[in-house]
Amino acid sequence: MPKKPTSPRPPVTEKAGLHPRNAHRSRYDFPALMAASPELAGFVAINAYGDDSIDFSNPAAVKALNRALLVQFYGVQGWDIPADYLCPPIPGRADYLHHLADLLADSVDGKLLRGPDIRVLDIGVGANAIYPLIGHAVYGWSFVGTEVDQLALDNAAAILAANPAFEQAIELRLQTEATQFFHGVIQPGEWFDLCLCNPPFHASLADATAGSQRKWQNLGKAEAAGKQPVLNFGGHGGELWCDGGEEAFICRMIAESATLPTTCVWFTSLVSKVASLPGIYRALEQAGAVVSHTVDMAQGQKQSRFVAWTFLDKSEQSAWRKMRLGR
Ligand code: SAH
Repeated sequence: MPKKPTSPRPPVTEKAGLHPRNAHRSRYDFPALMAASPELAGFVAINAYGDDSIDFSNPAAVKALNRALLVQFYGVQGWDIPADYLCPPIPGRADYLHHLADLLADSVDGKLLRGPDIRVLDIGVGANAIYPLIGHAVYGWSFVGTEVDQLALDNAAAILAANPAFEQAIELRLQTEATQFFHGVIQPGEWFDLCLCNPPFHASLADATAGSQRKWQNLGKAEAAGKQPVLNFGGHGGELWCDGGEEAFICRMIAESATLPTTCVWFTSLVSKVASLPGIYRALEQAGAVVSHTVDMAQGQKQSRFVAWTFLDKSEQSAWRKMRLGR
């Protein structure tokens, strides 16, 4: 049957604003994705615009799409997550990593730093281990991923076990204190070029549910009244919320980072709400950060950003730059 558009195609804003090196800037190539991961075929149908697509409100379909994207673009096999765990939107997760690569490059005369010598700490690696997987596949970086949730950590370990090349470059560590980020997981004398984090952003489970309801409505499912919104990108408990929401989480991270100022060259965290920024800036000032940046990111309509800060003074930064440039 020839594909017949039934509605005028909306303007393509979906992938607008992604980083120039992001591999997901164009529309998904479903034939290629189905070839990479045949189980995806069961979820692909022609949408109202006459294109191959999936039902983005169906968690199983979103998971199958992710699995296919991870095979096709990053060579990750057998990726899976437990039911109800966060199914990360791949284009946005990749974007943070590309911007982080730029942050490092900007600090070393514009050179993109690649390879296993570049050490990255991922706070809250999650069951999906998404940042280490993409970051190692694209830039060859080494990662330490920390996590408070043992089940999530076990799942991340299972993904790595299915991917030996990744397993060599990615180490997982359990954080036993939910209010700690560095102490308890960093070894004496250990340091990182970068620290990244995608914090739980809601302040309560009720907030998280309200957020999911909005997303559900945006996906055009509002008419399904009386039906509980499914968190199509999933997420449970600690992935979605923490006491005080993302602002309190990041402020605690900033305060603790000041107690180990040379542990990371650049400390960073995603900030999903603009309203969290003033409190974060106050915390950075109180902590005595030498430099801080806010880097805006966009994925279609969705605006996001990360904050980056360092405690290294000019001479420490220059010593690091010389080491990383090998001169
Ligand atoms: N990085 C994944 C998961 C982010 S959800 C992704 O982007 O999809 C946030 C994660 O942080 C959750 O898995 C939660 O268990 C974990 N977390 C919460 N507090 C933490 C802490 N103090 N140290 C390490 N991980 C923590």
